[in-house]
Amino acid sequence: MEKEIKISEIKNAARESFEEVKGLQGGKNADYIPYLANIDSNLFGLSVTLLDGTCFNFGDTEYKFGIESVSKVPTAILAMIQHTPKGVLEKIGADATGLPFNSIFALLLENDHPSTPLVNAGAIAACSMVAPQGDSRDKWKAITENITELCGSAPELIDELYESETATNFNNHAIAWLLKNYNRIYDNVDMSLDLYTRQCSLGITCSQLAIMGATIANGGFNPVTKKQTFEKEIAPKITSMIASVGFYQHTGDWLYTSGIPAKTGVGGGVMGIMPGLFGIAAFAPPLDEAGNSVKAQAVIKSFMNKLDLGIFNGDKVKIIPD
Ligand code: GLU
Repeated sequence: MEKEIKISEIKNAARESFEEVKGLQGGKNADYIPYLANIDSNLFGLSVTLLDGTCFNFGDTEYKFGIESVSKVPTAILAMIQHTPKGVLEKIGADATGLPFNSIFALLLENDHPSTPLVNAGAIAACSMVAPQGDSRDKWKAITENITELCGSAPELIDELYESETATNFNNHAIAWLLKNYNRIYDNVDMSLDLYTRQCSLGITCSQLAIMGATIANGGFNPVTKKQTFEKEIAPKITSMIASVGFYQHTGDWLYTSGIPAKTGVGGGVMGIMPGLFGIAAFAPPLDEAGNSVKAQAVIKSFMNKLDLGIFNGDKVKIIPD
């Protein structure tokens, strides 16, 4: 079915969803990373970026929070830019694990394969793939410059979060060394783990994430800076990964109820991609037991339902001016 949605309808749906979800209680901040435990749990933001560059922002959309696992998306894109989507498929994989983000069991089960760059094992492997090999400074530069291109503005390292994660990431050490054991890490182990930990500790805003989502939804063309950031063929590859594992063991439930591929992070952020239409991001620190933001999930679902949108709906949707 052909379906037209006015820009003002999108803005109103976002505002109404934000107001509805604002008072929602439940969940608690991630507590296994000390810095995250202390973030104000009342912070809440919702941003939508359309493919003509229009941005709608409600609430705390300029607050810099820990990007955490949402950082796995841009670095997977970078690995695809540098090594092609096929190279990433061969070296890491594109399969869902159906298990938590930090699962060691998943790595053992997949017969030495990290499965996807969107879980910890595959994300550490993706950091190891980033060129130039062996040079931590230049690898870091490539990682942050890529995020800057995708968002149209730079992320900022939260030093306290980086220290907090570095002091407590024992599980990720185990994953990194298991990858080494299976020849699935492609650079120095400690350096690759450190790059992963550092990228998770980048501060990002809700509005930046919505622009990144819109850039992916727009085939790599950043609608705000008007720059092509990656080859168009990468967009469906990264979106399929997000659709299959963006919410870890709850990805099926998420896609079934929301209709939009999205990636979560334990910092409380969720970034959604509606191919050909928009990027959306929400942020609120309290998480459910699987590590996904309670309010961010609720507000994105509400928005999608209000507009009756979903990637599987089969509608030809066009966003039109008022
Ligand atoms: N830095 C976190 C970790 O590796 C990220 C987890 C997440 O956001 O899902 O444990």
